[in-house]
Amino acid sequence: MKTAFDVIVLGAGAAGMMCAAEAGKRGKSVLLIDHYHKLGEKIRISGGGRCNFTNIHTRPESFLSTNPHFCRSALARYQPQDFIKLVDSHDIAWHEKTLGQLFCDDSAVQIINMLKTECDRAQVETRMNCIVAAVSRVDEQYHVKTAQGDFHAAALVIATGGLAVPKIGATPFGYKIAEQFGLNIVPPRAALVPLSFDPESLARYGDLSGLSLDAEVSCNGGVFHEALLLTHRGLSGPSILQISSYWQIGSPKAPIHINLLPDRRVVEWLTDQRGAKTQFNNLLSERLPRRFAQQWCEAHQLTKPVIQLSDKVFASALEGLQDWQIKPSGTLGYNKAEVTLGGVDTHALSSRTMQVNAVPGLFFIGEVVDVTGHLGGFNFQWAWASGVAAGQAV
Ligand SMILES: Cc1cc2nc3c(=O)[nH]c(=O)nc-3n(C[C@H](O)[C@H](O)[C@H](O)COP(=O)(O)OP(=O)(O)OC[C@H]3O[C@@H](n4cnc5c(N)ncnc54)[C@H](O)[C@@H]3O)c2cc1C
Repeated sequence: MKTAFDVIVLGAGAAGMMCAAEAGKRGKSVLLIDHYHKLGEKIRISGGGRCNFTNIHTRPESFLSTNPHFCRSALARYQPQDFIKLVDSHDIAWHEKTLGQLFCDDSAVQIINMLKTECDRAQVETRMNCIVAAVSRVDEQYHVKTAQGDFHAAALVIATGGLAVPKIGATPFGYKIAEQFGLNIVPPRAALVPLSFDPESLARYGDLSGLSLDAEVSCNGGVFHEALLLTHRGLSGPSILQISSYWQIGSPKAPIHINLLPDRRVVEWLTDQRGAKTQFNNLLSERLPRRFAQQWCEAHQLTKPVIQLSDKVFASALEGLQDWQIKPSGTLGYNKAEVTLGGVDTHALSSRTMQVNAVPGLFFIGEVVDVTGHLGGFNFQWAWASGVAAGQAV
């Protein structure tokens, strides 16, 4: 059994496979290790099974990090067009769904197969179901002790991802290795995750589960105009998943602001109905789901015909509809999250290579580092770009 390699990559997910293939193509001998039994399992379940593999509008501003400029270099050197070229070279059909989000026409499994083919072509050796017991650095070599034997290499790449969806293999392994080598961890939190209502809102809106609204949601500098979904526990849908990441960065946690009338023309139309004899909630239900309009009006004591509302109450109703403030009681946690906010503090890494500045040969890539994309293909683009950056440097 071969035990000496140029590079060992821990984590055979999106970033790990990309990095292994890139390093292998450069003639490096690469061992790719994962404790799970399947390659790229998160890719398989991504994008509703079709993998939203990139976003053509990827910009550094699409990412959250305590070191906001860190992602620039890798993203500039490996762009969405580069990944699209790779996808095209494997004859994988794709389409743009919305907002620059690219999905496979057929199945996310095609992306996994593509990366596996790239790894095979680059002669990457893969060990799945391989539990890593310990990592150490002796004489400028990394020693990786596993249940399938001990391996060593001059370069070690940690690509073990974040904490989202532990049932398919997510672990805090990467953070532990970072701490072992003296790196800081930006506290991890579940992100791109549904939010739960406080008990009062849950009692009022909880049985409206399944209703969807067009809304503009904002918090802590993030603003997203996408669909909002009411669930039996709180709020979800793209706009809420997006804002969940921003809500988490506030301390103490600020309310989220929901504009239920993001279309100015609807506000103007409503303003023109000032003299209407109809109940306010009936008027609103011409633009919002009826059951929601009714609950919202009851919560705001607006159960009167419009004409009977005072000017002050009417004006504050319009204001309230454009700034419905909700204080979530929390998130639905890592089981329901798409990503982890926080992770290995990038101040200790080279933004060009992903190498730890103070520990030659040690690299961190993908979601394990403190770079978190918006919803819409950005997290995979970060995985590809950081994987390639390290793959070219190991
Ligand atoms: C339901 C869902 C849908 C998503 N959809 C999208 C989408 O459409 N578009 C998008 O851009 N992003 C999406 N994401 C986010 C995206 O999947 C991740 O950001 C991306 O997979 C991160 O890549 P990674 O390689 O860093 O980590 P991962 O892909 O999570 O890979 C980490 C690998 O490390 C392995 N590992 C963990 N611990 C150990 C250990 N102790 N020893 C050995 N191996 C270990 C894991 O088994 C795994 O294979 C989605 C996430 C989820 C949960």
